[in-house]
Amino acid sequence: MSSAKLEHVIIVGGGLGGLATALSFHYLFPRHNLTAPRITIYEREPTESSRINEGYTMAIRGDRVGGAVQALKTINQDLYNDIRSMAAPEGDKNVAMQFSFGVNCDLNPALKLNTSAGEDSFRIARFKLRNRLVEELKHFDESKIKLEWDSHVIKADYNKEKNKVNVELKDGRTNECDLLIVADGAHSSVRRYMCSEEKLNFQKCISLSCVTTIDDGESLPSPIKTSPLVGITGKGIGIFMATIDEKSFFWGVIYPSNEERPPPYKGSVMTKDEQEEFVNEVLTRTNGCLSNEFRSFVRKCDRERILILNSHDKFPHKNPSKKHIIFIGDALHPMNPTSGNGANMAIMDAVEFFQLLIKHHEKQDNYLITRSIDEFDRDHVQRSTVAIKISHRNMASAVATGFKFQLNKIIMRIVAFAINNPLLFKSLLIGFVSVIIMILILYVRKFF
Ligand SMILES: Cc1cc2nc3c(=O)[nH]c(=O)nc-3n(C[C@H](O)[C@H](O)[C@H](O)COP(=O)(O)OP(=O)(O)OC[C@H]3O[C@@H](n4cnc5c(N)ncnc54)[C@H](O)[C@@H]3O)c2cc1C
Repeated sequence: MSSAKLEHVIIVGGGLGGLATALSFHYLFPRHNLTAPRITIYEREPTESSRINEGYTMAIRGDRVGGAVQALKTINQDLYNDIRSMAAPEGDKNVAMQFSFGVNCDLNPALKLNTSAGEDSFRIARFKLRNRLVEELKHFDESKIKLEWDSHVIKADYNKEKNKVNVELKDGRTNECDLLIVADGAHSSVRRYMCSEEKLNFQKCISLSCVTTIDDGESLPSPIKTSPLVGITGKGIGIFMATIDEKSFFWGVIYPSNEERPPPYKGSVMTKDEQEEFVNEVLTRTNGCLSNEFRSFVRKCDRERILILNSHDKFPHKNPSKKHIIFIGDALHPMNPTSGNGANMAIMDAVEFFQLLIKHHEKQDNYLITRSIDEFDRDHVQRSTVAIKISHRNMASAVATGFKFQLNKIIMRIVAFAINNPLLFKSLLIGFVSVIIMILILYVRKFF
């Protein structure tokens, strides 16, 4: 059936992917002399600030492979500039990440991973980025983009007779559209309803994280003043730290576990006793692994911002293009935060799908929705598969012990050297391979 009509679009989920999608319609379509459709966004949360306590910061990357910087610039340069000005205040913009190894690794970074020249990566608190995107929507009249809070979508399906997608909400409301964009995150209700066979995989790691605000006269941990730090203790505990602003920083401790943890996952819904149990657990797990300085920051963390994460992920499924439904972001390919990539992928998904829609629109393709979704699946989803595989490796090395820990240390040093000195590394590699080939030739000639 034809899929050229695009008058009303529903987006499930007003997170990073959903909001980037809505803005893409209203910024990118007019640039190509196309009229943007009417958009309804259904968001389960009651207000825009309901997740303000989730203080974690995210790396918005500037590289071409997995970076949302270019995607945000494509949506709107002024919006991007504004978001950029809210970035965490890290000092050395050339250092993307620092790594350290062994006991008390939070104190002394051993390796610095430089960014490529001209790359404009930055870190930003999730709630700041999300709230700025919500703010941007307010520039548009409600008749064009309507963001409906407190709207929990539970079902969606395609009605062949009407050539429409029907959506049902928990409170009994229903609606229909020409295209449904599902961006309701890792635990997507629509995915559970439509693709019940698609399950999340538990990757046997758990992260305990929180935010600590320093007192007046106190200083942020010195290693993270320049850039975020990943520490691998070699004792089955990994640590991540990054500044949020001049007075606070995010930290997360990761450990291996065969069992998933039951709720509660957020400090804001824990009892006082549960919050104190969390702090004591972090102190016990990091005893003998991480410095007393770090442990003193743990003691005074902001209990409301506690976040416990079971490491879940899922490789992307095929989108139901013939039903005019596309899943994007974590709803399509949830990944563990150790890949530092979920938000980048969600924003890139939005913009890249739009570029395909515009391409097929301009060709006056009668099957523009179906073709755009199929092409998206074919050409763009691969990068999320790669990111998920990288996150598996990152998790395994974060909690490595014994021989694996020592091996990872060597590999990390080689990788850091290769990234920081690409030309020298290439020359050394070519020299090494040439010597091996010469030895082989001499060896073979000895026998013939
Ligand atoms: C601690 C931590 C650190 C991270 N660090 C990074 C990083 O450095 N870099 C990076 O790129 N990514 C990072 N991520 C991952 C990133 O936050 C997610 O991948 C990203 O937010 C996914 O965007 P999304 O739009 O797909 O989903 P989300 O941002 O999760 O948005 C989904 C939205 O849908 C709403 N919703 C859910 N169900 C329904 C429903 N049934 N009906 C209506 N609305 C619904 C939710 O309330 C939510 O607002 C991190 C995540 C965590 C937890």
